[in-house]
Amino acid sequence: MDTKDFIDFGKAVIDFIANYTETLREKNVLPNVEPRYLFNLLPEKAPQKPESWQEVLKDVERYIIPGMTHWNSPQFHAFYPTANSYPAIIGDIMANGLGCVGLSWISSPACTELEMIMMNWLGKLLGLPKQFLSSNEGFGGGVIQGSASEVTLICLIASREQTTLRTKRLHPELGEAIIKTKLVAYASDQSNSSVERGALLASVPIRLLPTDDKCALRGETLLKAVKEDLKKGLIPCCVIANLGTTGTCAFDNLVELGAICEEYNMWLHIDAAYAGAAFACPEYRYLMSGIEYADSFNVNAHKWLLVNFDCSLLWLKDSRKLVEACSVDRIYLKHDKQGLIPDYRNWQIPLGRRFRSLKVWFVLRTYGVEGIQQYIRHSIRLAEMFENYVKSDSRFELVTERVLSLVCFRMKGDNQLTQELINRLTARRKIYIIAATYREKLIVRFVIGSRLTREEDVMFAWDEITSQATEILRTVTPPLEKGSDESLKTQLWQNQKV
Ligand code: PLP
Repeated sequence: MDTKDFIDFGKAVIDFIANYTETLREKNVLPNVEPRYLFNLLPEKAPQKPESWQEVLKDVERYIIPGMTHWNSPQFHAFYPTANSYPAIIGDIMANGLGCVGLSWISSPACTELEMIMMNWLGKLLGLPKQFLSSNEGFGGGVIQGSASEVTLICLIASREQTTLRTKRLHPELGEAIIKTKLVAYASDQSNSSVERGALLASVPIRLLPTDDKCALRGETLLKAVKEDLKKGLIPCCVIANLGTTGTCAFDNLVELGAICEEYNMWLHIDAAYAGAAFACPEYRYLMSGIEYADSFNVNAHKWLLVNFDCSLLWLKDSRKLVEACSVDRIYLKHDKQGLIPDYRNWQIPLGRRFRSLKVWFVLRTYGVEGIQQYIRHSIRLAEMFENYVKSDSRFELVTERVLSLVCFRMKGDNQLTQELINRLTARRKIYIIAATYREKLIVRFVIGSRLTREEDVMFAWDEITSQATEILRTVTPPLEKGSDESLKTQLWQNQKV
């Protein structure tokens, strides 16, 4: 193939993506394939001779699309969403086309500076305190990372190093290695798995503390744990608080936790991977009250801010603390402007980095703040519509209060009914929802996040759910016996006729 062929290939792929996106509603959200399906379809080796791009594209249609779970389908209600928009896709193409690696300022000044500016734009979009923004005063600033998991890990590492340095200053008799064996971090038992994994990788033992009936971590629980650990001679170093847990979108009480972190000199990191996007709308900013206590704050733009994966936003109040923990220099990395502007390699795990801020820039400019607010409010309005459907049907119950675009519900009665509902819906592949637990109850998480979801899709999903519930109650409910109508299953069976 020559250059012209590749350019034609690229243009055809753009058309392919547009057509794929615009026809997503017509496809089942889940694929109908078995493990290793693709191994039976593709050759065992790369072709010896070049093939035409037309053949390659045909095989995407034939073999790849049928094995896709369509994350951007209007019927995808399972995990928190993966963001998707045309300007972000175009921005990623542009970044790949320009192809720089922004490991230091000199390695591509535009890459570093656009990222700094975008992190300030985004910080203002979300209404963050100005200490988190980059300016001539203070050491605040933001950086784009690959994932919330990486962010948690590096913040734990920064907190570990800070606490170790501070403790060494206070107790010069203690060696660094000894101090590090005494460190302990805290998070709620509702935290994402990446929090526990981050602690594992950073070698900081973490205590996952119990939460209240709203799944929120409260100050008194943290305080009790900190005091217990201090008594044992341990050194509390970091608290990872949730704004919007994965299971039920619960919000830890930052005001209470923050005051304790301040008193006991602990780093406060906030995982707002999904819910943080809602702060683009001022009416949801009450959910982050207490943010002023935080040392670091994370939102995944690649979840609910219309910027395609990967784009995880991290702001720090004092970026020097992270840079100190992550800096290793070599002669080949040096340049004569060092110290005047960030070298972002020192703010992250990898050395190399992509020009991710381009896609952010494209999205912010073509949607504007208002476009993004509209999208967030639209998702929440649709979730509210779904919540009202659940409330109106006595066979179901809401499990936790809906705050944003996640609705947690279940079939009343035994967990087995909800499990059967999830099994059936998954097998039918028309809508995609997943299970979670709340206390001992099995629940369904129903999230709105696809840019493509409309009212008609929510109605479709509700029809699908209720028709399966009807079937379940018809087949699972034991035959009715006279006089047994106090039993819950009987009530449910009767309710379905309403
Ligand atoms: N934190 C929360 C609250 C999440 O819901 C998730 C993923 O859904 C993560 C962290 C992990 O995000 P990532 O895949 O960017 O590491």
